[in-house]
Amino acid sequence: MSSPNKPEVAPAANFIKNIVEADLAAGKHAQRHWSGQPGTAADQASGPLDPAKIRTRFPPEPNGYLHFGHAKSILLNFGLAQQYGGRCHLRFDDTNPEKEDQEYVDSIVDAVKWLGCSWESAGETNLYYASNYFDWMAAFAEYLISAGHAYVDSQSADEMRANRGTLTGAGKDSPFRTRSVEENMALFKRMQAGEFPDGAHILRAKIDMSAPNINLRDPAIYRIRHATHHNTGDKWCVYPMYTFAHPIEDALECITHSICTLEFEDQRPFYDWLLERLAEGGLLQRPLPQQIEFSRLNLTYVVLSKRKLIQLVDEKHVSGWDDPRLPTLVGARRRGYSAEGFRLFAERIGVSKHDSLIDYALFEDAMREVMNESDQRRIAVLDPVKLIIDNYPADQVEECFAPNHPLHPELGQRAVPFSRELWIEGEDFMEVPSKGYRRLFPDNMARLRYGYVVKCIGCDKDANGKITAVHCEYLPETKSGTPGADSVKVKGNLHWVSAAQSYAAEIRLYDRLFSVAAPGARREGDAPDLERNFLDDLNPNSRQSITAQLEPCLRDAKPEERFQFERHGYFVADRVDSKDGQPVFNRAVTLKDSWGKAG
Ligand code: ATP
Ligand code: MG
Repeated sequence: MSSPNKPEVAPAANFIKNIVEADLAAGKHAQRHWSGQPGTAADQASGPLDPAKIRTRFPPEPNGYLHFGHAKSILLNFGLAQQYGGRCHLRFDDTNPEKEDQEYVDSIVDAVKWLGCSWESAGETNLYYASNYFDWMAAFAEYLISAGHAYVDSQSADEMRANRGTLTGAGKDSPFRTRSVEENMALFKRMQAGEFPDGAHILRAKIDMSAPNINLRDPAIYRIRHATHHNTGDKWCVYPMYTFAHPIEDALECITHSICTLEFEDQRPFYDWLLERLAEGGLLQRPLPQQIEFSRLNLTYVVLSKRKLIQLVDEKHVSGWDDPRLPTLVGARRRGYSAEGFRLFAERIGVSKHDSLIDYALFEDAMREVMNESDQRRIAVLDPVKLIIDNYPADQVEECFAPNHPLHPELGQRAVPFSRELWIEGEDFMEVPSKGYRRLFPDNMARLRYGYVVKCIGCDKDANGKITAVHCEYLPETKSGTPGADSVKVKGNLHWVSAAQSYAAEIRLYDRLFSVAAPGARREGDAPDLERNFLDDLNPNSRQSITAQLEPCLRDAKPEERFQFERHGYFVADRVDSKDGQPVFNRAVTLKDSWGKAG
């Protein structure tokens, strides 16, 4: 999307596209079979060649609402699938029985759809729950035991920690590492049967306690947890560890490129080890999925961590998950941000392995650019002051015509009523003008946009000196769109609404939730032992509610309909608090980046 007024910004590099293109050129995944659903090597072999050239997935854990960082991952995974003739799966990574909730599942489904991504394509519905793979996971664990690749460890948690070694020192073998296959199998069966309390035993992969990568020192793969799972109920009292479950989920779903954030880089050797062992045993189809790590999105002025977001919501620093100031996707939607804007932003920041902190202004610029193209124009006066046109007939109302979109004449224009009494912005009049001020001040002329040129003749004030009305006279031959419109040249150009036809409405102005770029981060000059709390960096003025005067047709705005209010920015009819005929508007973003600059 481009607009004539802005320079094109080229999309940033995405190294994962290069990997995908090289794989496609080499035909790496061309011989995979796909039975139509997740399954083992044997299940897949019964199906035809996979019509999907690649398979990616977005695998959220349903333990919170999605945030802007997840949007980067969603757009990347679904975007690659779409671009390269593939499919992208939405997979709920719900293998942890304790933290997950249907509310989160529903909100994730909504958010992914809102971003314009679909797990339904080419006749496939690729929506999966990792908990449906528990049977396979347990069977695979038993296979590892039978092949001598896993054992039941009965050390205490403390002993295991102590024997794990350090970054520089090797670990020590557990005394239970030499248990026989039969003994391990019997114990694991009894773990599954519920014979032991939580923590009594744990199943571990048998790799190498002296591996330089600590993740390869016999990582835990199955633990005892007597907990009810939201999907499988009480069927299981053993649950797979995430690092065991995730590669298997990918492989069962025939994922070709398993994309994750950088903190999983150290896990990749175990990811590969595990899938290799299972493929050797004939359980998984080759070629195996490839894990590829990229750097997560970090943005200034927000926090992108579920834990901190939960804290903001639970401690009521915000009104809920969909508070328009939160960097959640439900918050973004309510704020009026556009899914298209997320897409443009994601393209611009690209995908790399370098950690970076992206300026929030870049995000807002992407939003503005998209909205400038997409949003119709309307008129709102946010800080209304009466303007009285003394030489205009008191009982007259005439129509002026305002274009709905200056970049899209085909969207036509609409009539806006003009009369003797109007509302203008308080800042559009100064009794004593500052240097360079071009709008209304005594004896100066300015144009009422789409209407007439007026000459200011004075103002009324109350006992406190507050201006209650501005007076002017209009020049009848200067109406916009008539031959005389250009006969008088003026520099100021103001927006207005007719007082008798406009209506008062609530408008919510949002600002950044935090007043510093890196909330909670230490700053220059901090004492060495000072620990900052991100909550102390909350911006106390991040939300303001005002009563504005709006042009009459805005009464009909439907929830989530968005407009550019001329000279002010982009505003959306709130999807929660709007009533029929009385929408409440949220400001998504101002017209220009004015953060930190004087109004
Ligand atoms: P958080 O770290 O905020 O708690 P998470 O990683 O625990 O998030 P998951 O539900 O596990 O949340 O994430 C689903 C997917 O989203 C993962 O593939 C993860 O890598 C990706 N993801 C999470 N945060 C970001 C981020 N800031 N930038 C890019 N991708 C992210
Ligand atoms: Mg996670």
